[in-house]
Parts: sequence; C-alpha cells; structure tokens
Amino acid sequence: MIQKLALHGGHPVIAQPLEGFKSMGAEEEAAVVRVVRSGILSAYIGAPGEGFMGGVEVKSFEAKAAHKFGVKHAIAVNSWTSGLIAAVGAIGVEPGDEIITTPWTMSATAMAILHWNAIPVFADIDRATFNLNPESVRRNITPRTRAILAADIFGQSADMDGLRAIADEYNLKLLTDTAQAPGSMRSDGYTGTKADIGGFSLNYHKHIHCGEGGILVTNDDQIAERLCLIRNHAESVVPASSSAKDLANMIGYNFRMGELEAAIASEQLDKLEERVRDRQRVAAELDAGLIGLEGLATPYVPPYTDHVYYVYGMVLDTEKLGVSRDRIGDALRSEGVPGVSTAYQNIHRLPLFMQKIAYGTQGFPWSLRAGERDFAYGVGTCPVAEELQDRSYLGLAICMNQLPSADVAQIVEAFHKVWRNMETLRSR
Ligand SMILES: *Cc1c(COP(=O)(O)O)cnc(C)c1O
Repeated sequence: MIQKLALHGGHPVIAQPLEGFKSMGAEEEAAVVRVVRSGILSAYIGAPGEGFMGGVEVKSFEAKAAHKFGVKHAIAVNSWTSGLIAAVGAIGVEPGDEIITTPWTMSATAMAILHWNAIPVFADIDRATFNLNPESVRRNITPRTRAILAADIFGQSADMDGLRAIADEYNLKLLTDTAQAPGSMRSDGYTGTKADIGGFSLNYHKHIHCGEGGILVTNDDQIAERLCLIRNHAESVVPASSSAKDLANMIGYNFRMGELEAAIASEQLDKLEERVRDRQRVAAELDAGLIGLEGLATPYVPPYTDHVYYVYGMVLDTEKLGVSRDRIGDALRSEGVPGVSTAYQNIHRLPLFMQKIAYGTQGFPWSLRAGERDFAYGVGTCPVAEELQDRSYLGLAICMNQLPSADVAQIVEAFHKVWRNMETLRSR
C-alpha cells in the first residue's frame, strides 16, 4: 500500500517543523558583552583623521578577514547591499555606462548598478550551474560596457576564468557578488577573491552572520581607498586626503559597520569552515538520497569550484515527469519539507526594468542613452533563466535549518514518497 500524499489528505512525512538554523554561541555572547562594557559601539568619525577607518573591533575583524580570504584588503560595511553599491561606485562608472550582470541573483546585485545611474544589462545563465554564461556575456558587450558584475549563486563560484578572459579582452572591470558562497574554494583561492572587487553578506541565513553586515574584498590599493571613502561620507573627506585625487563618484554614504557587529562577525569567521563542512555533509546526504529519482537533476558542481550550498538547486524534467514543477513543489511542501522554492529570480522581468521606471517617471537613467540604444528587458532576453524560473527550477533553501542527518533523511523520504505517488499528481 502506497502512503497517500499529504496533498491528498494523507499524513505528512515531516509532521513537526524542523529545527531552524542557529549559530550563535558563547563566543559571540562574550564578544557582545566585551563591546558593550567598553561603552564604544561605534568609533567612526565622518571626517579625516583617526576615526575615519572605524574602531578596534572593525579593524581587527577586517585584518582577520583579509588574512582568512588571502586578500590585501577586507573592508567591513553595514550590509552587503551597501558593499555592492560601494563596489560599483569605486570603479568609476559614468552615468549611462553599461554593466553586464545576471538575472539569477538577489535584486541588490542589479540595483547597485542603478544606484550610480549606470544601466544593468542582463546576460543569460548556464542551466547547470545557474551562474553567468560567459558566451552570453560576450554577446552583450558594447562600446559602453564598463564592467561585468557576476554572482556566485547558491554557493559555488561563477566561471571566473571565462569571465576574466572576456574582461581582459575588452578592458572591463570584473566584480562579483559572493553573498551566498563564503568559504567556497577554487584552485586559485577562495571564491570571490579573484575579482577586482568581491565580497560577502553577513545577514541572517548567510553562512556566517552578525545581524546586518557585509565584507568587501580586493587586492587593489586604489580601489580599496575608494571603497573606504564611499563607506564614510567620501565627499567631505576627499579634499583633505592626499592620495584621493580622483573625484569621480566620491559621493559618500554611511555604510559603516558597528563595533558589536564586527565583534560578532569576527567570531563567526572562526566558524566558517565548520559551517561549510556541515552544509557539504547535508548536500552529500541529499545527493545520495535523491539519486535515481526520475527527472530530477541534483546540483552540478563544475571542476573549477566546490559548493557550499546556501541553496540546494535542482532542475526537473517536467516533460518526462508529466507533472508541473509547481505541483511537485506543493506536494513536497505538504509533506513538511522546509525551504522548498519553485522559483528564484528573473531580475530582468521585474516591473522596474520592464517599464524602465527607476528614478522619477521619465525613464532615467535609460533616457541618458535615448536614440542610441533601446534596452530590451523582459521575456526572451534570458531564455535559460526564464525557462528555469517558469518551469523547471526546484530549490531547497537548506540555509534555513540545522538539518542533522535524521532530518535530511526525512526530507529524502518525503521526496521518495512524492515520486512514488507521481501518477496521482498526474491524474488529479
Ligand atoms: C543576501 C544577498 C545580498 C544582500 O546582502 P545583504 O547583506 O542582505 O544586504 C546580495 N546578493 C545576494 C546574491 C544575496 O544572496
């Protein structure tokens, strides 16, 4: 007797919610107490001098992160969204310049481009890795392209060798958003560190977190200086700074990380390797448990990177299965599987891009290029990302739960139950 699906009134495989992701321990608690007792929760001053680069906790976290990731500069910011904005500003784009990015990422990646009145152009992704397809990037290059902003999505490096070759050929800057892949390794070092600017998020649900925060990484001294300026009210400081002669985009913000966050982030950094290993355990158990399920492709990890699994991203062959992705997703959710997602992102199809309404209502910044280039967004511009979004992508946000082996086994059992009952999903 096959157990009836929970979707059809049967008992769910997972009746109780699984334990949520928790990673704060005694070390973070002690760090917070230390900082609170010091009385200094932030030591920044938005003017030239001692306090311009922040307090002791921020500086010590930055030094630790630079050492850990093997980069010359690690720069703490108050969120990775801030980090992305600072990164695009630091490369000195002109309003109306084009930056090629991916539609399969969090919106903040693309928004960072718009913040400087530059224009995001979306290249398509690779169906197996969900990351930018270098050939599609190449097809989107024009004389106004200034940079490529990649993302190392779900936990593994984008094809940085392919992207670097194109960037070098066309004299473009190469930036990457490694929010979801801290601790992922390539043969040439940590993912995110080989771009001109990379960086990580420290938001909740990311591998390591401190409330809100981010960390920029670069090996370029000049870029590092510009990042630090944008972080802390650049405009008011540049005249007094001896080396910062380039005034382009020296419109600053308050992107400063506080001492509490830095102290927590520093403790979290020590736990990154352990966290990564545990995620890889979860993924290995899922791989082993889901292998052989018809029409389901588990994550593909290309040879140039490992995977740290922020999301466990799968692809369904719904034609073979004869059941829609969304119906399978509903069935899995009904069985109590946490973190099931039946869509990710198609940034190029957001109303903001489709209608070209960002700053005001007159099509700025696209209007800067009126009569010269008509930027096309929407359906048809990134067919691979669209097909995944509309039909075949199925994800498990494994970042949301602790997932000891017993819990992973239940998730695997829920998948098998749904697959055993696939016929009933077809007929109803
Ligand atoms: C989380 C995330 C961000 C934003 O980071 P915050 O620290 O939350 O601002 C940007 N890009 C990607 C791909 C992310 O996953």
